[in-house]
Amino acid sequence: MRIHSLPTQLVNQIAAGEVVERPASVVKELVENCFDAGATQIQIDIEQGGARLIRIRDNGCGIINEDLGLALSRHATSKISSLKDLEQVASMGFRGEALPSISSVARLTLISRTENAECAWKVGADGTEKDFDPQPDPHPQGTTIEVRDLFYNTPARRKFLKSEKTEFSHIENLIKKMALSHFDIGFVLTHNQREIVNLKPASSPAEQEKRIAKICGSAFIENAVRIDFASSGLHLTGWVGLPTFSRSQPDMQFFYVNARLIKDRLVSHAVKQAYQDVLYHGRHPVFVLYLALDPKLVDVNAHPAKLEVRFREGRLVHDFLFSALHRSLAEQRPEPAQAEVL
Ligand code: ADP
Ligand code: MG
Repeated sequence: MRIHSLPTQLVNQIAAGEVVERPASVVKELVENCFDAGATQIQIDIEQGGARLIRIRDNGCGIINEDLGLALSRHATSKISSLKDLEQVASMGFRGEALPSISSVARLTLISRTENAECAWKVGADGTEKDFDPQPDPHPQGTTIEVRDLFYNTPARRKFLKSEKTEFSHIENLIKKMALSHFDIGFVLTHNQREIVNLKPASSPAEQEKRIAKICGSAFIENAVRIDFASSGLHLTGWVGLPTFSRSQPDMQFFYVNARLIKDRLVSHAVKQAYQDVLYHGRHPVFVLYLALDPKLVDVNAHPAKLEVRFREGRLVHDFLFSALHRSLAEQRPEPAQAEVL
């Protein structure tokens, strides 16, 4: 067979294969866009575990009418323009792939209004036909993206969707994790018109701890120490569970790098070492930690779903985390009789 270029929709569907694994991955991409748009309130409506409907509305900066078609086109982004930008990206998104990928495997509607626009504008895309002729809409400032019938045109993928309950629980967990990275944003999550999560913006430390308690349980915040440690341009804040408050599974460990939730072996290793002498074998610590560092020192373009990063100075980060945690834990005098069994 001769070599030929693939049609745009197929190219987008191939890209979707990497990023859009299930409804929760769509929610992740769309909520990250709300973060980048400077939203302070995000409404997430889900029907049938996201297979039927995912609707995300924000009150962020919006998209101008002329750019709506571009927002749905591949490799089109407002977030970077050069390699230099890519090497120090501070936004959640930068590839311009999410919306075209999602719209190639679902029916997508985008409605958006910028601050000074007289009205909102609406465009639709459903995989095959893209309707880039914007229609006026009464939507307030901000953006709503509606994703219906995910994988309707890729039956092989739709077959892999789990039960409504399972898919929704992935979404609920994701929203909770994302809410831990942006305390200043209010989140409302509904499923089949029932409100499941409602988190008001939390600015004061007391309000933040309330949000943590809502998400991780009040026992965590009662058994955790606050951490705030800075050195060599690295800044670690958050909460670490006392060794007496551990779990049998590593299922309550949240680590954010510049507000991005990531999984990283180097980070896990540093944490494990710091707890090594104070935790019983087989138990796992609980933590919500935020590492802030110069975006130049971390490569976020290392994983299709951006769940992993690469630190430019891994050793430095590892040793910093270890000593920050080790010190915080050493300062504590837990009462050994209170061991929590979860
Ligand atoms: P990326 O986030 O990597 O730029 P996306 O496909 O997710 O790519 O989005 C494409 C573009 O659409 C973004 O660069 C942004 O300009 C715009 N956009 C998407 N969602 C929103 C939103 N909720 N509010 C404002 N602009 C948005
Ligand atoms: Mg994006």
